[in-house]
Amino acid sequence: MLSIKKGTLEAIVLAAKNTFPNEFLALLSSKGKNKIRKNKIIDEFVLLPAIYGRTFSGIRLDLIPYDNSIMGSVHSHPYGPPMPSRADLRAFRAMGETHIIIASPFNLDSFKAFNKEGKEIKLKVIE
Ligand SMILES: [Zn+2]
Repeated sequence: MLSIKKGTLEAIVLAAKNTFPNEFLALLSSKGKNKIRKNKIIDEFVLLPAIYGRTFSGIRLDLIPYDNSIMGSVHSHPYGPPMPSRADLRAFRAMGETHIIIASPFNLDSFKAFNKEGKEIKLKVIE
């Protein structure tokens, strides 16, 4: 089971609020030593440089510091539901296995998690 630390999710909520009305985007990563990827705990996020904007599609994928600790991505939807757009699905495929979309009003219940195919997955929030 894939999990996210509550403190990490709270930091994401805050970052999404602070970035509003622009879209917030970061990479999700795991410091954990668990080698089984599907059991990993997301406990960090990594901001990407100079990509705050109103769309997810403007990301410079070549700037992504991709390595083994990268679990996926998180971005906000300042308007509308937390469902992946067509551009999101393209980006998901390039940015790891697990993707969170957090929507307004930006709280611990206003997010959804997806796999790289855009299918909703369960993400457990742990203390
Ligand atoms: Zn999106």
